[in-house]
Amino acid sequence: MSTFKELGLNQDLINAINDLGFETPSEVQQKAIPTLLSEDRDLVALAQTGTGKTAAFGFPMLQNINIKSRTTQGLILSPTRELCLQITNELKLYGKYCKGLNVVAIYGGASITEQAKQVKKGAQIIVATPGRMKDMISRNMVDISKIEYSVLDEADEMLNMGFHEDITDILSHTPHDKSTWLFSATMPKEVASIARNFMYDPIEITVGNRNESTSQVSHEYYLVNGRDRYLALKRLADANPDIFSVVFCRTKRDTQKIAEKLIEDGYSAGALHGDLSQNQRDLVMKSFRNKQIQMLVATDVAARGIDVDDITHVINYQLPDEIETYTHRSGRTGRAGKTGVSMVIVAKSEVRKIKSIERIIKKSFEKKDIPSGMEICEVQLMSLANKMHNTEINHEIDAFLESINELFVDTSKNELIKKFFSVEFSRFYDYYKNAKDLTVSDTKESGGRESSGDETRYFINVGRKDGYDWMSLKDFLKEVLELGRDDVFKVDVKDSFSFFNTDKSIEKKVLDFFTDFKYNGRFVNVEITENKGGGRRRDKGGRGRRRNDDKRSRRRSSDSGKRGDRRSRRSSSPKSDRRRSGSGSDRPRRSRRK
Ligand code: ADP
Ligand code: MG
Repeated sequence: MSTFKELGLNQDLINAINDLGFETPSEVQQKAIPTLLSEDRDLVALAQTGTGKTAAFGFPMLQNINIKSRTTQGLILSPTRELCLQITNELKLYGKYCKGLNVVAIYGGASITEQAKQVKKGAQIIVATPGRMKDMISRNMVDISKIEYSVLDEADEMLNMGFHEDITDILSHTPHDKSTWLFSATMPKEVASIARNFMYDPIEITVGNRNESTSQVSHEYYLVNGRDRYLALKRLADANPDIFSVVFCRTKRDTQKIAEKLIEDGYSAGALHGDLSQNQRDLVMKSFRNKQIQMLVATDVAARGIDVDDITHVINYQLPDEIETYTHRSGRTGRAGKTGVSMVIVAKSEVRKIKSIERIIKKSFEKKDIPSGMEICEVQLMSLANKMHNTEINHEIDAFLESINELFVDTSKNELIKKFFSVEFSRFYDYYKNAKDLTVSDTKESGGRESSGDETRYFINVGRKDGYDWMSLKDFLKEVLELGRDDVFKVDVKDSFSFFNTDKSIEKKVLDFFTDFKYNGRFVNVEITENKGGGRRRDKGGRGRRRNDDKRSRRRSSDSGKRGDRRSRRSSSPKSDRRRSGSGSDRPRRSRRK
């Protein structure tokens, strides 16, 4: 592995890289930078979203151009305004020590004369969306007749969006002897044809397999009745309290509708689609970036520009019409070395599509059950407990302590804890205690493990915060317990705790092993949990140690009768209860992510 310096970058750029905190070049950077610095060749690079493509073409371009000249020498075309602005900002950061550098962004929805003015000042590099670029060429506002480098960024997305003609037109105004660098996540035939028609003997770089989806992303699907789609979506959100996600719908109408429903039900959601004004879209994106929105409901086209690094989940509320689009969707998560989950909610009639997607992404999906109501309650409760445990004490409270103490003078610590938790927990519990099982059984198509019914589900007090994802936790468990490949399953990693299943036959072994087990200096605690890992709840009693020692709540949770159905219908969501109960829509929003 080489360093940025070894790739041949000059000191100005190295200094900027140090400021940015990039330590080692990514694979696409390792492959592209030295080539582009030393050879005047065309290049086709296939690499997933989040692999650092901007720097892969940005650094060589900055080093190769003549900054003393005011002539436009580099042109970067990108599919959306958001990406265009992002690339421009990145290039400015990369070139912060290149004195006299002027990078200008050109995109629709903003003043064309202002952009023309910026270009007139002498822009060595222009970053543009195809539509506006073409417009400016036809109005003689830009001169790209002397460019030496052209970049087609996210070429597959540009072609998907119908920019083929615009690109052809723009490139016809550029000199023949320039170098063209094409970057793309996938290589559909339209991209191959661009490469053939506009490029001369390009060098090819592939990072990972062609068309392979990002390895940091795991893929899951949930089989439900079509009419339960929305309920399923809410459960997936509730089962992941720290979710920060993009929810994909097929149409603008559905996008708007689902976002509105979520907001009504008390979720922090927003819609992003083409019927919104640019201003509205900017506002939504701003709230999303600031994490004021946890669930961004979007159409494929509108989501193209989303380039936010720490999206935890992509939820396919509906599958895209063209299954190739799935790669773009799932590529929104698992960026910049982080792990991510791409979830698909499917009806039985669409399961075939899952198989086709598996062929395209060359990875398999895990079939999972929609979390049961009780599992969600448990997750919410433990997440709350962890948050409370990690909360820094605000000593402004000290002044009121005496009166509070007076109020609770006869309350035991246990009781107090229960009361505190009930404030938040009852909302979920009341909503979910009689919630039905949403998972549709699918014996023929089952991609996951067949449920024998004799499984045990465990809780373990390590999670994402300890650096685990479901794969590494599974490996860890298999290793310490000396188990075989499929002995640990349904591993579900949350922020600071996780769940997993084994066959009931090895339950004792697991519990015995984790009695007083210490790892990296801390106790790793494993206990049997009530829920079974999505879907069907199990209420058999008397198995091993139990976490839920509240007899009353257990009895209530098991007598799921008609009475409660009415109640769950009345409150449309556990979240909406919060608002109704007056715990405060006017209150500052509980910060859900750290
Ligand atoms: P892509 O265009 O392939 O989707 P980006 O160029 O947008 O990816 O990069 C994704 C993120 O990774 C950005 O936040 C970028 O600043 C960061 N990044 C790029 N290269 C490196 C590196 N070598 N080390 C650390 N972070 C990097
Ligand atoms: Mg990019």
